[in-house]
Order: sequence, then structure tokens, then C-alpha cells
Amino acid sequence: MIYLDYSATTPVAYDVLESFNKANKDFFANPNSLYRLGVKSKELITSATKQISDIFNCLESEIIYTSGATESNNMAIIGYALANRNKGTHIIVSKLEHPSVYKICDYLSTQGFQIDYVNHDEEGIVDLEDLKKKVNEKTILISVCLINSEMGIRQPLKMIRQIAKKQSSQVVIHSDMTQGLGKVPINIHDVDLASFSLHKVYGPKGIGLLYKNSRLILEPIMYGSSKNNNLRPGTPSVPLIAAASKAIRLGTSDLDRKEVFVKRLNEKIIKKLTTYEDILINKTKYSIPHILNISLKNIKSETFVHAMEEYDIYLGTNTACSSGELSTSVMAIYNDKKRASSTIRISLSYLTTTDEINRFLNYFDVVFKKLNELK
Ligand code: PMP
Repeated sequence: MIYLDYSATTPVAYDVLESFNKANKDFFANPNSLYRLGVKSKELITSATKQISDIFNCLESEIIYTSGATESNNMAIIGYALANRNKGTHIIVSKLEHPSVYKICDYLSTQGFQIDYVNHDEEGIVDLEDLKKKVNEKTILISVCLINSEMGIRQPLKMIRQIAKKQSSQVVIHSDMTQGLGKVPINIHDVDLASFSLHKVYGPKGIGLLYKNSRLILEPIMYGSSKNNNLRPGTPSVPLIAAASKAIRLGTSDLDRKEVFVKRLNEKIIKKLTTYEDILINKTKYSIPHILNISLKNIKSETFVHAMEEYDIYLGTNTACSSGELSTSVMAIYNDKKRASSTIRISLSYLTTTDEINRFLNYFDVVFKKLNELK
């Protein structure tokens, strides 16, 4: 098997699974229970949270566990909007967000919020002049992802925050950092709220994080028994939290070396694919090497992905959450419907080997020629 869809999800790392299994076996008691066994479970959560907050350089109380980035995005954007509607009802988002952010904004627009979409330049970077113009005294929240999930475009969040705060000191910045964790260094203090998902960084599915600056108040989007945390009631999953901590520690280590390696693989693929006339590379100066997006001029992306699957090779189309639909990011950058409707996303990991890429390129050639001949 050659798996090249690491931005859709990653396999769970062995050590992460070990932490998960150990916590399931040895820390099964409810962390909300008062007796010793429960306290032991609670202590494991506390130590996992401490490790995570040390990595992010934030307070332990600023980490909230969720089921994944979709929930973190909901909790952050809806929670902040509802808790602060007395300050204003204007929200700004970029045009390169994950579908979950747009769905949340669609919902908020039915609740009396005005959603504005900030422009970007031809490299996909938020247009700071447009941002300046769009921030007004009613703006409460700006949401810009750190790394775009389809083309890997990386935003200068620190600068975006500085400019926005200068226009209006009440503005709060949320960033969906899901595609950044484990790929690029994370500076949590560039933002006020940040969403993460552990299954993108060799952790299990079903756990995500929300970083929330302690100054901020969010309105809960769920209600229930909330012994420790009024935003996420219910019994916390000790095994998932232990696994999350392990995945973050492993995932954020040695990033420079991992990136150099992935970049070499990315360049090898681009060098070969640019020799084909009917392939367009969808990439800007700010695309990170882990996410490589291409468009096939004459072949439908689903057809191509399924043909590659016959050789046990797995590629994405756009994001896993909107497979089969038009790529919003490619559309936003190139304004070309045909190009945006035939995208393939090749996403790489430090686990990808040079041999896998050589074999992938050989099969790519076979499948590409075969499908073109059929046409
Ligand atoms: N945001 C981004 C940028 C993503 O790539 C994804 C996963 N495709 C999500 C949010 C949703 O994450 P989850 O599956 O954990 O809900």
C-alpha cells in the first residue's frame, strides 16, 4: 500500500496506541468519581494536560478537549459569537477555510450575525489592506486557518492579528490550526482561540483540542453535568486524552528535519508531474510541502483516484470533508471552475519513503496514460 492522503487522516503511532491501551486498562475509572481510582484517572488527565500546555506554552485551563476540529471550530466560533453579541455581530473569515467554518458561519448568519469574507492576494495570503477596511467597530471575531487544507497555504497569523487589533482592540482571532500541528511550529499566542484535531497528527480519531485564551468567555454549545468544565460536559475520555498528549509530544518533535525530508519528496513529485502537459500544479509561494495539489485537465479526479486505488495507492481529491465537490481553495486562487473541479491532493508525511514516491510516480504514469488513451 502507498498511502498519500495524510492530510485526510494519519495512522495512529505505535507509542500513541500504547498510551491509549494502557490508560484504558489501568485508568478505567470515571475521573469525576470521588474515590481513589477516580482520582487516579483525574491525575492522568491533569498530567496529560500539563504536558500539552507546556508544549503550547499556555495555561492548563486554556486547553479544552473536544471530539475533533469540527467541534472545536463550533465551540470557538459559535461560543464566542453568542457570548459577545452585545459587543457586535460582525465576523470576518478568509476564503480559504475548511468547510466546517463556512457551515458554522452559514448558521450564524441565520442568527443575526453578518459574515464578511476577506480577500487574499494571488499567493493566497490574506489581503491586509482589505482586512483593514473590513474590520469595524461591530467586528468581534476573525477566523483564518493557519494552513489551508487543500493547497497548504500558510497564513501570517501574527501580522493578521496585529493589523486587526490596531483597527479595533476588541477583535478576537480564531485559527483552525488543524493542518498545522505536526507540520509547522505552532505559536498559540498569535491567536486567541485555536482548533486542533489529533487524528491529523498520528493520534486517534475522536479527540481534538480547543485553545481558549483565559480572558475570553464562550457561551457553551452543549449542556450537561460539568464538574470540571462548563464548555464540554460529560465524562472525559482518559484514554483519548492520554493518547492526545503522546501524539502532540511526538508530532511536534523534530519538525525541521521532518520538513526538509518532506520537501525533498514534494520537489521530486513536482519535477516529474510538470513534464506532463495536461497537469496543472496548484501551489503558491506559501504552500507547505506536505500538501501538494494538482489538477488533471482531461480526467475526472474521482476516476483517477479510483484507478490508482486499483494499485493500492491512496490519494485525496480535495479535503476528505468535501470529496467530490469543487475545490473552494483552487477556485479562490485561480478562479477557474474546470481547474477547481479536477483536483487531486497528494499529502505527504515524514513516514512517506522515497521508494514509495518512486513507485507512486511509476503507477501515476501508467494510470495517467491509460485514462488519457481511453478518452
Ligand atoms: N479543519 C481542517 C483544516 C481540517 O483539515 C479538518 C479535517 N479535514 C477539519 C477541520 C475537521 O476535523 P475533524 O475531522 O477532526 O472534525
